[in-house]
Amino acid sequence: MANAHTAVLNRHVAGWHVLLAGGSVVIGLYFLFLELGPSWAGPQVAAYVSANATLMIASLVTARRHRAMAGMALLLAAASAASVTGDLIFYFLALVEGEVAYPSAADVAYLSSYLFMAAAFLVAVRKRSPGWDFSSAIDAGIVAVSVGYLIFEFVVVPTLTGSTRDVATLVSVLYPLGDLMIITVGARLVLGAGTRGTALRMVGIYLGLMLYADTIYSVQSLEGTYQAGNYLDMVWMVSAFLLSAAMLHPSAPQLVARASAATPDASPGRLAILAVAAVIAPTTMSVQFLRGATPHVLVAGLVCNVLFLLVLARMAGLVRAQRHAAITDGLTGLRSRRFFEQSLHAEVARAARSGSEVGLLLLDLDHFKNVNDTYGHNGGDRVLVELAHRLTAVIRPGDLAARYGGEEFAVLLPGAGPETAAEIAERIRRAIAMAPIAVGEHRVHSVTVSIGVAGLPSICTDAEELVLAADRALYASKNAGRNRVTESVRFVGR
Ligand code: GH3
Ligand code: MG
Ligand code: MG
Repeated sequence: MANAHTAVLNRHVAGWHVLLAGGSVVIGLYFLFLELGPSWAGPQVAAYVSANATLMIASLVTARRHRAMAGMALLLAAASAASVTGDLIFYFLALVEGEVAYPSAADVAYLSSYLFMAAAFLVAVRKRSPGWDFSSAIDAGIVAVSVGYLIFEFVVVPTLTGSTRDVATLVSVLYPLGDLMIITVGARLVLGAGTRGTALRMVGIYLGLMLYADTIYSVQSLEGTYQAGNYLDMVWMVSAFLLSAAMLHPSAPQLVARASAATPDASPGRLAILAVAAVIAPTTMSVQFLRGATPHVLVAGLVCNVLFLLVLARMAGLVRAQRHAAITDGLTGLRSRRFFEQSLHAEVARAARSGSEVGLLLLDLDHFKNVNDTYGHNGGDRVLVELAHRLTAVIRPGDLAARYGGEEFAVLLPGAGPETAAEIAERIRRAIAMAPIAVGEHRVHSVTVSIGVAGLPSICTDAEELVLAADRALYASKNAGRNRVTESVRFVGR
């Protein structure tokens, strides 16, 4: 059994290794056949087509092997099948009819391949982050706008300013637009939240290679310098083999694994990509100017403005995330102690001005050391998280719950008089004691809390005194046997 398991694992690892090695050999053979002359056209075509055929087979294997990947993998298989069809039609026309019209049926197949490819990446994006991940969308937008401008200046404009405007021109513009579509969705996939495994990195490299080869191809075609069988064929073949390897790589299932955090970090790699993307437009404009070409100032200006606004929007999001992190407790999601203390002072000052009341509860878990000792620190943490859930479910929208210390919590109740505060405290105590909490996969444990209640202006007049009074009441609860609510003495005696 163990051997069978190891064998399967080895086969997984070997699969993509063998594929990359085999791919290199096939690329070598392709250029060898090319050197050997026209009589070797058959094997040469076979070698070239095998790259996309490999992608199709690798995708089908993956669709069978990992159920969660079926959607993405089948769409990739469809994309590569369309490419293979395009290649076969192209070579058939070239070999049998001697000449390939442009556009031909091959172009229909190639263009549909772009749609399938974009759809495949889109499926992966939706699986990784089902929600609307704003930061990743902005990052992908920055890349898309920059690359879009690059394609516009170097491919679309020269194509459209050519002598004729016919179907051929239109199709020539559809190719770079197809690239732009894939780069946009691909950037959203690569830059979005989620696990970054080797397979995802391979997809990133694939996108870079494809963008590079397609752009150079368009430019060379426009200049009339393109020659079939130049190094671009190698780049296309490498990219197809690389994407096949990504599909067979053990980390492939991570491509569609649900992201744990909604927003990706501003890592150095990401900032580098965004920096490059952001300077593409102004640099392109300068390069065009130096080349003596007339850059499209209005379009460039618009692109720079959009880029600037996108970068600002991203910055605003980062600042908001930082501010949120600063006032939030990382484990429970409740407010931090610092935020609580600021709010307490503000509330006390406001109450003093307006003569309104403020209630304060301090909670401490009973015998929490035992939970940690029995179920480990992780089990303890799960209790803290669940306690925070139950706490927030019980309090009102204007109330403030904070993690005051390790296993101590504070609740600020603006406008609550002694009776209300004690009532809420009792509700919290019951909500926590009511049902046991899951501390492990199949283990539950019942916990209780002791609560101290104090209030303004009945007990004291300043924030420090208020906290002290609640703390004293809390320890009275502990001494009286735990799992209870104690109101600060002057509350009772009022
Ligand atoms: P008592 O009823 O007297 O409060 O007993 P207790 O065991 O709860 O005693 P105390 O309040 O002093 O316990 C604090 C314990 O809380 C010690 C520490 O191990 C645990 N603790 C503090 N912060 C965390 C945390 O973030 N996670 C976990 N798992 N445990 C924590
Ligand atoms: Mg404690
Ligand atoms: Mg405790």
